[in-house]
Amino acid sequence: MNKVYLDYAATTPVDKKVLLTMIPYFSDKFGNASSLHDFGQEAAQAVKKARKQTADFLGAKSSEIIFTSGATESNNLAIKGVVRAYYTKPENKNRKPHIITTSFEHHCVLETVKNLEKEGLIKATYIKPKNDGLIRAQDIKKTIRPNTILVSVMYVNNEIGTVQPIAEIGKILESYKLKASPHKLVLHTDATQAVNYFDCNVDKLKVDLLSLSAHKIYGPKGIGALYIRQGTAIQKIQDGGEQETGRRAGTLNVAGIVGLGSAIEKIKNQKSKVKKILSLRDYFINRILKEIPNSKLNGSIKKRSPNNINISFKNVEGESLIMLLSAAGIAGSTGSACSSGSLEPSHVLLAINLKPEQAHGSLRLTLGKNTTKKEIDYVVKELKKIVKKLRKVSGRVLEDYYKNKE
Ligand code: PMP
Repeated sequence: MNKVYLDYAATTPVDKKVLLTMIPYFSDKFGNASSLHDFGQEAAQAVKKARKQTADFLGAKSSEIIFTSGATESNNLAIKGVVRAYYTKPENKNRKPHIITTSFEHHCVLETVKNLEKEGLIKATYIKPKNDGLIRAQDIKKTIRPNTILVSVMYVNNEIGTVQPIAEIGKILESYKLKASPHKLVLHTDATQAVNYFDCNVDKLKVDLLSLSAHKIYGPKGIGALYIRQGTAIQKIQDGGEQETGRRAGTLNVAGIVGLGSAIEKIKNQKSKVKKILSLRDYFINRILKEIPNSKLNGSIKKRSPNNINISFKNVEGESLIMLLSAAGIAGSTGSACSSGSLEPSHVLLAINLKPEQAHGSLRLTLGKNTTKKEIDYVVKELKKIVKKLRKVSGRVLEDYYKNKE
């Protein structure tokens, strides 16, 4: 068996057709999209097309799309940009605003909010998901204060794949927006893990800001976008040129932008692939739960991304599991790629109330359009052997260790 890649939530390969659309913009068509001469205008035309492709996918206008270096930057711009805009008004100078987010966001949202709090610029509330990995829209509603300026909730969780009720939250916030209010209550969603599989129409979701990233949708790394609904008060967070109508300084990554546009446009033709991924996911989950004792699926099965499997194995150490899977040619993950290297249990799994020992023994496998049943059968076979082996070697030690900690 060749290597089996089951880490599509960490990143995806660039689709070959997408790559072909990008290649000319590295060399033959190398112009700076801000230059007025033909070279520049050729690049600018390509950017215009990609902006339209991205806007069309979201049901937005081209003027509402800003290209960034990825979802990390989009999320930073969304959150810090709204806070900056708030403080540009002199009457707000001494009035600290309030932000609502969740405790299981990606680190680039969580750290941004926490740091703004540390700097004394905002107050924040972190809504906890229920044990099924889902936020309740009503919990958001209960938390809104007169000075709440921003709600930021991810669309699909990157570790457990659970799908959050963004449209429902959007509907709730709409009624607050209609009220005479000194500021608009802005809804942001990090849709990075949703774009491949879920409807991201910004009007249906009723979001004002939406972040996405190309490398999760068979596009290149280092390019993303932020949708900014017309009229949303947001300030730039990095100084420099006037690119992106003054909202994001820096020479445009033309080849990357072209890749993002092509990748996002291809998504609508992938319905049959999504069906296949979903049926493979369910086959995989059923086999693991049936054939490996003391295994448990983390997060709701119903409201879940079609490609996500996140399972805890009792008395198994996650990092060892990944290493042995890797030795068998299988690429999986214990949580998000960004937090591997840290031995802290996943904040997502702790947020859904897993005990540290369960959180430590968890495995995330994410499927993609190249995944086959043959691969799944191979992984199940190897996984059964590896879990058995690890339990034999260290299961008792781990059990005693966690018992003593209680
Ligand atoms: N948000 C989510 C939900 C993600 O999964 C990721 C990538 N792991 C990011 C943000 C960061 O995206 P990027 O790599 O484009 O900065």
